[in-house]
Amino acid sequence: MKIKHIRVVELDIPAIEPRTKERRPSWNEEAPRGSPMGMYPEWRDAVPAEIPGFGGRPVWVQVVADDGTWGLGRCSFGEPVEALISTHFAPLLEGRDALATEYLNDLMWRSTKRFGSLGLSAVAMSGIDIALWDLKGKVLNQPVWRLIGGPSRDSVHLYATGDDLDWSQELGFTAFKITNPAHYEMGIEGLNLVEEKVATARDAVGRNRELMINPVMSYDVEFTIRLAERLRPYELRWLEEPLIPEDIEGHIQLKKAITWIPIATGEDHHTRIPFRQLIEHRAVDVIQPDLSWCGGLSEAIKIYTLAQAFGIKTVPHGGANTPWGQHFAYAMPESSMAEYWLGTAPGIPLDEVRPIPGMSMPVNGEVTPTDAPGFGMEILDSQIIPRA
Ligand SMILES: [Mg+2]
Repeated sequence: MKIKHIRVVELDIPAIEPRTKERRPSWNEEAPRGSPMGMYPEWRDAVPAEIPGFGGRPVWVQVVADDGTWGLGRCSFGEPVEALISTHFAPLLEGRDALATEYLNDLMWRSTKRFGSLGLSAVAMSGIDIALWDLKGKVLNQPVWRLIGGPSRDSVHLYATGDDLDWSQELGFTAFKITNPAHYEMGIEGLNLVEEKVATARDAVGRNRELMINPVMSYDVEFTIRLAERLRPYELRWLEEPLIPEDIEGHIQLKKAITWIPIATGEDHHTRIPFRQLIEHRAVDVIQPDLSWCGGLSEAIKIYTLAQAFGIKTVPHGGANTPWGQHFAYAMPESSMAEYWLGTAPGIPLDEVRPIPGMSMPVNGEVTPTDAPGFGMEILDSQIIPRA
């Protein structure tokens, strides 16, 4: 079976219109959060859509085989990624064996070395790789979690990301990650803000629940160490992505300096070698590849295997917000938790805000993907519109 074509598409699926009325707007509407751009006051109170480099349209990719079977994948960051898919990767892969996911992953990875295999190249690879796995599952009539060796558990345990801790507890989640209100440039004022926020959150969830915080590359080494001293009493499960991904020496230094809070990172690391560097230096306790950004499911499996050999857990970023993240965490033994990014308004049941038809939604802080073929997305031919 050959790849007939790979194309960027749009999905014409009904907009989410919950039946239930919200109790109040979500934290996600207004809460400022960390980003490297928080260096400048202009972006310190911004939501992601306002932060340069944090928005961008989702990119859907369809891989069509010569018998008409197709698979769908999704990645991010709009037009530049679409251009990489349609002008570089599609011509490279069209006409080749559609089920040879490992060979196709290798072709994509090698072909980007001159212009850069990290960043947007890895994101574009991800959309295609996910579509190839969806196609393979449909052709073999199996869910992808079975093709990659699962299941390893009955359901995937989730943590909820967001600041509406009353609502996430009401939904049955038992682990929580809050947003970060400070940038290292804010100095002691920033330290005070973060400590106050963590203390309030710890009070809200009690001592018997896991709690994490998500700086999203807002800290430097010095600020992180000062903050970690302040946060000792709150027993965080982890401190997530304090530094920019390129700073391997900074990660090594942090891990040596901070032994009482595990360090997690990885959503902005791409492809196997940057992860290998973190892992071989034991500069991280939990790795968090995003399957839609890191190079795809094929690349995430390589990253997972490296981490597993070093006794490091893999908790996929946004894992429960996509079918492929759910399939990965359901299949992999050392991926015993996944993230559910909870950005919808308190009061609206999660099954009313399903973003992709056919995707399982969390129930009581757990999720179980279906056993439908591929990634189980229920999308019709007529809903797939090629982008001009
Ligand atoms: Mg994060």
